[in-house]
Amino acid sequence: MARGSKAVYFFGDKIAEGRAHQKDLLGGKGANLAEMIRIGLPVPAGFTISTEVCAAYTRNNQRYPAGLQAEVNAALHRVEKSMGAVFGDRRRPLLVSVRSGARVSMPGMMDTVLNLGLNEITLQGLIEQTRNPRFAYDSYRRFVQMYGDVVMGLKPETHDDPDPFEEILARKKKQRRVLFDHELSAADLRELVTLFKSAIRERTGETFPEDPHEQLWGAIGAVFRSWMNDRAIAYRKLNAIPEEWGTAVNVQAMVFGNMGDDSGTGVAFTRDPATGEKKFYGEFLINAQGEDVVAGIRTPLPISQLEEVMPKIYKQLLGIQKTLERHYREMQDIEFTIQNNRLWMLQTRTGKRTGKAAVRVAVEMVEEGLITKDEALRRVTPEQIEQYLSPVFDPAAKKKAVEDKRVLARGLPAGPGAATGRVVFNAQDAEAWAKRGDPVILTRIETSPEDIRGMAASVGILTARGGMTSHAALVARQMGKVCVAGCGALQINYKSRRLVVDKRTIKEGDWLSIDGTTGQVIQGQIETRPSEVVQAVLKGRGAKGRQSDVEYRVYDRIMQWADERRRLNVRTNADQPDQAAQAVAFGAEGIGLCRTEHMFFGEGKIGPMREMILAERSEDRRAALAKLLPLQRRDFAGIFREMDGRPVTIRTLDPPLHEFLPHTEKEIRELAQSMNVKPAVLSARVESLKELNPMMGHRGCRLGITYPEITEMQARAIFEAACDVRAQKIKVLPEIMIPLVGHTNELRAQEQVVRRVAEEVFRERKTRIPYLVGTMIELPRAALLANRIAEHAEFFSYGTNDLTQTTFGISRDDSGKFLPFYLDREILPSEPFTTLDFDGVGELVRIGIERGRSTKPDLKIGICGEHGGDPATIEFCHRVGMEYVSCSPYRVPVARLAAARAALLNGSPSKAKKPARPARRRARTA
Ligand code: PEP
Ligand code: MG
Repeated sequence: MARGSKAVYFFGDKIAEGRAHQKDLLGGKGANLAEMIRIGLPVPAGFTISTEVCAAYTRNNQRYPAGLQAEVNAALHRVEKSMGAVFGDRRRPLLVSVRSGARVSMPGMMDTVLNLGLNEITLQGLIEQTRNPRFAYDSYRRFVQMYGDVVMGLKPETHDDPDPFEEILARKKKQRRVLFDHELSAADLRELVTLFKSAIRERTGETFPEDPHEQLWGAIGAVFRSWMNDRAIAYRKLNAIPEEWGTAVNVQAMVFGNMGDDSGTGVAFTRDPATGEKKFYGEFLINAQGEDVVAGIRTPLPISQLEEVMPKIYKQLLGIQKTLERHYREMQDIEFTIQNNRLWMLQTRTGKRTGKAAVRVAVEMVEEGLITKDEALRRVTPEQIEQYLSPVFDPAAKKKAVEDKRVLARGLPAGPGAATGRVVFNAQDAEAWAKRGDPVILTRIETSPEDIRGMAASVGILTARGGMTSHAALVARQMGKVCVAGCGALQINYKSRRLVVDKRTIKEGDWLSIDGTTGQVIQGQIETRPSEVVQAVLKGRGAKGRQSDVEYRVYDRIMQWADERRRLNVRTNADQPDQAAQAVAFGAEGIGLCRTEHMFFGEGKIGPMREMILAERSEDRRAALAKLLPLQRRDFAGIFREMDGRPVTIRTLDPPLHEFLPHTEKEIRELAQSMNVKPAVLSARVESLKELNPMMGHRGCRLGITYPEITEMQARAIFEAACDVRAQKIKVLPEIMIPLVGHTNELRAQEQVVRRVAEEVFRERKTRIPYLVGTMIELPRAALLANRIAEHAEFFSYGTNDLTQTTFGISRDDSGKFLPFYLDREILPSEPFTTLDFDGVGELVRIGIERGRSTKPDLKIGICGEHGGDPATIEFCHRVGMEYVSCSPYRVPVARLAAARAALLNGSPSKAKKPARPARRRARTA
C-alpha cells in the first residue's frame, strides 16, 4: 500500500467516495454499495476498508498500516451522523455489520459478523428503542454466536461434529419443549447469551469483549485473516483467483429484518439464474435476518408473494431491480432488508448463473438493446455453451424409473441437467471416491463452504435444506453441476451414512439419480442421452413449442454471432460418414483429420487390416490390401458426400502396432484360419512384429515408405471415391496428409506415390479433381525443418498429441501414472495433453509456422491434435496465425465460440478469411 494513500471510503447520505469501477480497491461489494448510493438507492451508511490494507496486513505480520485507526474513526463518525446513532451509546446505539468483499464474489468463503456494537449497555438502548426485548436479545444472541465463531474461533472440532453454539441452542429448545428458535422467550435468549459467553471462555480461555471498538477491530482482523483460511484458499485455487488481491472489509450500519411482521429480508435475481428467463426471481422471509435466507434454516417464500404481503415495498423493489439491471447492463443478484416497512438495499452484484442461463441472458440483453453482440460473446464462456450440449436422462429409462416408483422425492431444481452416481455423505469421501473413478452424488443436509472441493469432484449435489439461493444452489450453478436443493423429505444421518425417505433407505455407495431440471430424486442408475439442443441441432432445427425451442434459438444466435466474429475456421476430426454429418450439423467447415486406421475399428474390418499388417510377402500384403480397398472407398465416398464440397483431410495409415496386433489366442487362431497359415506361424510373426516402443516404432509414414503398396491402395481408394462422388455432381476437396514425417525425404517419397496414383485414377476415369498433399507436423524435427518440409507440402496440420509426446518425451499411454502427481504438486501448470504447453511445444509450433511460411507464404496451417478443442489452445492458434482448428464433432460449437472470443481478445485477424456461416443441414445418420 502506498504511503499516505487513502484506506477508508465512506458511503451514505447520497454521498459515496468510491464507485463501481473500483472493484480492485474496494472489492465487488464495496464498489457496488458506493455505486448504489450514487444512483440514489436507499443504502444504510457505512465505509469500506480497501483491499490494499488487507495485502499490507498480510504482508506485515498482521499489523495495520499507520493512520488506519484515525481514518476508521472519522468514517465511523460520519456513519453515526448519517444514521442518527452513536457507536457504543446507551440511548441510541449504532450497530454495524462487518463483512468481507473481494474483487470477485466468493460466496460464503470468508467471514461476516452482524449486530456488532452490542454489549450489556447498548442492549438496553436497543430494548428501549424498539420496545422489543425479545428482538434485542435475539440480536445479541446472534452477535455473540457469530463473533464467538468467526473472531474467537469456537468451531466444531471435526467435520461431523455439531456446531457448539447450535448444540447449546438445541439443548435449550429441548429444555423449553419447543421446536423452533422463534418460540424461545426473551429470558431464554438472555440465558443463551450467558451460556454462549461461558462456552467461549471455557473453550478458548478468552473473555468476550464488551468494548464496541475492541469488537470492531477484532472483527476487521478476522475478516482480513479469513482471506487466508483453507476454504478461501481452496476456492481461489479452483477459480484461479490470485492471493495478492486480498479482500476489502465493509463496515455498515445494521438494519433489521427481524423487528416484527413489518420487517423482512430477501435475496433476488433480476432474471432466473437457472434458465436465464427474464423474470424477477428470488425469495424472502418475514421477520428474519439476511443470513436465515441464505443458510437455508427456514425455507423462504417466492418473491412474487411479497406483492401480497407488502405491495408498496414490492413495487419499489421491482423498480429498483430494473434500475440496477439497466445501470449495470448485467443480471444482478440483490440483497435487501425491510425494517419497519422501510426498504434498504444491502448488496447488488453480478448474479451467478448456470451456463444455459448465461447464454440466454447475454443473447436476450443484445435483443433488448442493453449490450452489443461482442459483449455477449465476451460474457459467454465456451464451458457455458457446453451445458447446452451436456446429456439429459434417456426419457424411456426415466419413464421406467417413474413407473417403477423409483422417484423418491422432489426438491428444488437448483442446477439443471441429469446426473447419476453413487451416494456419499461428506465432501472428503466425494473427493476420495471420485479419485477412484466413481461418479458421486454429494448428499448433505446443507452444504457449506468447507464442502467446495467435494462439490467440484461430484457429478451432482443433493441437499435436504435450503432454497434456490442456498450455498449449494449458488455454487453448483457456478460450477455447472447438477443440483437438487432443499429436498425436505430426505432424512440424512451422517453418522450411519444413510438417508431415509418415504420408508426407503439409501446407503452410502448406492446409486442415485438426480434431475436438476425437475428437482426429482430417483433411486438407482438412469441412462443419460443427448441434450435437447443436441437433438434439435442434429434434426436441423428446434422442435416447435417446447423448452428446447427457446434453448435452440438462444444457442443458434450466439453461434451465429460467433461465426460473424471469428477468423479461425473450425473443422472436425471424423472418420465415419455419420460423425461427419453430426459435425456439419454442429457447424464444422471441413474435416481436419480423418484417421484412416480408425476406419478399421468397425465390425468385420479389423481382420483384413491385421492380415495386411502381418503379411510377410508382398503378394500377401497386396491380397489383403485388395480386400481393404473397397471398404475404404465406400467410407471415403460416404464422407465426401456428407461434407458436400468442404475440404476433407485424409491421413494415410498411422497404426501404432500395439493397437492393431491380435492379442489373445482366440484372435490369433481365427486370423490364422482366414490367412490360411498355422496359428504357430502367425504367433511367431506377431511376436516378431512386437515393438518395445510402438509409439516411436514402425508407424506413420514409415509404414507407407517401407510398404508403398499401402499408400498406393489408400490413394486409389481416395481418388476413386472422389471421382465417384464428383460424378454424382457433388463437389469434393480431398487433402491427403502424410503422418509422422521427420525428414523431408519421407514426405517427398510419399508425395510421389500419391501424385502418381492420382494421375493413374484420373486417366482411367477421364477426369481430374483438385486435391492437396500436405503433412502433419508432429515431430520436433519437422517443426525445426519446416522450411524444407514446406517444399513438398501444400498444408501443415499440427499433430500436437504426438508433438507433445515427443517434445516432453512423455508417453501418451503411460502418462497417467505420473502426470496427476505433477499437476497436484504444480510441477506442470496444466495437463499438457489437454491445454498446449505454450512455452515449449507452442514454441515449436511458432517456429514451424514461421519457417514453413518462409518457403511458402500462403501455406495453409491448422491443428488436429486433441488441443484443437481446448479454448485456451484455440486462442493460441488464433494468435500464431493458423487458418483452422480441428476437434471432435461435439466440441465444434465450443471451438466456434472460443475462436470468436480469441478474435475479440486479440483484435488482429489470423490468416484465414472470415468463414462463411455453415450451411444448416439435417444430419442423415445422427
Ligand atoms: C496427433 O498426434 O496430434 C494426431 C492428431 O495424431 P494421432 O493422435 O492420431 O497420433
Ligand atoms: Mg499423431
